[in-house]
Amino acid sequence: MKAAVLEGLGNVVYRDVPDPVVDDHSALLRIESVAICGSDLRIIRTGNPRVQPPAVIGHETSGVVVAVGKHVTRVNMGDRVAVGADVPCGQCRWCRNGLGNNCSINYAIGYQIPGAFAEYMLLTRLVLEEGPVTPFSDRLGFDEAALAEPLACAINGLEMAGMGLGKTVVIIGLGPIGCMMIDLCRIMGAVKVIGVQRSRLRMEIARAYKADAYIASADEDVVARCRELTDGEGPDIVMTTCGSVEAHEQAVEMVAHRGVVNLFGGLGKDVRPMSLPSNTIHYKECFVTGSHGCVPRHHELAVRLLENSSVRVKPLISHAFPLSSVTEALAVMENRQGMKIVMHPTKG
Ligand SMILES: [Zn+2]
Ligand SMILES: [Zn+2]
Repeated sequence: MKAAVLEGLGNVVYRDVPDPVVDDHSALLRIESVAICGSDLRIIRTGNPRVQPPAVIGHETSGVVVAVGKHVTRVNMGDRVAVGADVPCGQCRWCRNGLGNNCSINYAIGYQIPGAFAEYMLLTRLVLEEGPVTPFSDRLGFDEAALAEPLACAINGLEMAGMGLGKTVVIIGLGPIGCMMIDLCRIMGAVKVIGVQRSRLRMEIARAYKADAYIASADEDVVARCRELTDGEGPDIVMTTCGSVEAHEQAVEMVAHRGVVNLFGGLGKDVRPMSLPSNTIHYKECFVTGSHGCVPRHHELAVRLLENSSVRVKPLISHAFPLSSVTEALAVMENRQGMKIVMHPTKG
């Protein structure tokens, strides 16, 4: 089969690789769509200890089951299936308690487990028994189903932030995750959602999500505006979905008393540490939380929300390429010319 293989730092090559071999406990997925994640770019640029080249990355995906081992019960031939990233080991303390994204081994598809930048992907025994593997109906397209993975992570973040009825929310960073969070906040009961974004291109796309207010962080005082828009009290919840330490600091500064900050977006290795105003936290009695990845129940929920159009992801898909154009697709992503870029390994 063909795959886009990460041969070493900065070097992805579209070439032939051996076909995956299906045994009695595994199944084969023909990849219909795989989206490029910001973390894929970071793996390619700076490497990741969990990815050993030559490797096939890609963890936001969907496809059709085309072979099934005789002991497999999780999926059937012909199923349309969305697959996420984090695969709980099922054994450690975290996995046994339903917190598989904090697994001490931290397996993930497109990391230790070969991913979806390929025509076919093996759903191994561990992936089928413990992983985020969710069949979906033909009401949902493959490109949208692939985005169940980032949506699942967004759900995890909002759960960590205690999202619920009556909350005012600020989302700093309106990339794909930030936009999905606008829809999620609505269905989870927010009374006001304010979006903050620097780049103009992303702001244009984000406007389709109809937040109550948008703040252009390049031109406006973000903290002052967010306070103003929340009757001087600050938002109940602040989600930071960008890799900016300044955003982390603004979030703590603006959040309401007893409010919750969720540091959703991770920071690059070379970013300075956050300066933490501990007395602000002390007097506000606020909560500063983090979140990363998700567990399989989030993935299942994400697929259901996409199926019934509670969360829209179509406006986010700015580009589609055949997998053979992987270099071009990565360049669009690298140059921040797109929002969400999907690749189709078995079409065109
Ligand atoms: Zn991702
Ligand atoms: Zn584990």
